[in-house]
Amino acid sequence: MEPILSVNNLKKYFPVFGGIFLRRRGWVYAVDDVSFDVFPGETLGLVGESGCGKTTLGRCIMGLYASTGGKIRFQGRNLDKRDRGQLKAMRLKMQMIFQDPFESLNSRHTVREILEEKYRIHGVGNNELDRHLAALLKTVGLSPRALSRFPHEFSGGQRQRIGIARAISLEPDLIVCDEPVSALDVSVQSQILNLLLTLQQDMGLTFLFISHDLSVVRHVSDRIAVMYLGRIVEMADRDDLFATPSHPYTQALLSAIPIADPTAPKQRIILEGEIPSPENPPAGCRFHTRCPSAMAVCRRKEPVFKPLNGKDGTHFAACHLL
Ligand code: SF4
Repeated sequence: MEPILSVNNLKKYFPVFGGIFLRRRGWVYAVDDVSFDVFPGETLGLVGESGCGKTTLGRCIMGLYASTGGKIRFQGRNLDKRDRGQLKAMRLKMQMIFQDPFESLNSRHTVREILEEKYRIHGVGNNELDRHLAALLKTVGLSPRALSRFPHEFSGGQRQRIGIARAISLEPDLIVCDEPVSALDVSVQSQILNLLLTLQQDMGLTFLFISHDLSVVRHVSDRIAVMYLGRIVEMADRDDLFATPSHPYTQALLSAIPIADPTAPKQRIILEGEIPSPENPPAGCRFHTRCPSAMAVCRRKEPVFKPLNGKDGTHFAACHLL
């Protein structure tokens, strides 16, 4: 099967300015040589700690940040920033759901104006707009009466439903979900996740699902990629990743997930120290400053991201131990 989205060697570096003349004094290596495919109808979960580059990666895919290097192909075509017409057409088929539903909705616009906005921007006509908007709200579990109200009149969960309505309004093929439930109460999170799963089935959507929460990612994903300091360190089918996590960082993340059975054996791996600054990533393996299994070679040689033996090319990791 051909991937709907291919990301190849993607890089995004942000310049850092300093001194009295505000000269560039370095770079923040937010995303550094990341490659993966997403296949039609699947959900690829992208997980990692805050600051690992996962949101930057999603924003590069959406064209909200210009990438520093690498290629992004969507539905078999390069997303070339020089061809604005082609970019605009492709963006109709790619949408994003943001972390903070309140920040991502214009507080001075009614829901109707928010949902109309995309039709106007992309030159879609006004025919039967009212009926279409009412059906759209019903699809995400809101009443058509919501059209005349403002974002501050809704709860967090309802605002995220409006954000989802905006994302699906033009029937996209791919949605980048950037921490779509992390700002919500736990009781509301599952409702929003189930709504996303229902929409995926009904509309044949493909998701790139970004989250720091492995439990959430496990619930929605078919495959999972684990990111650390701008790089993907492990990628596998969901069940395989949870059954046999191979990279020491993935093992530490999984060990921190609470389990319901207090009698079940569990050994939490505590990582020492903070995630290093992406402005000055460690040489060799980027995880060596916190890895409980680090060896001398890890400090000088970068491990290759490669398929693991006996996994039929579905489980990849970057570690000298593997
Ligand atoms: Fe740990 Fe070395 Fe593997 Fe990096 S390469 S994860 S430091 S064992």
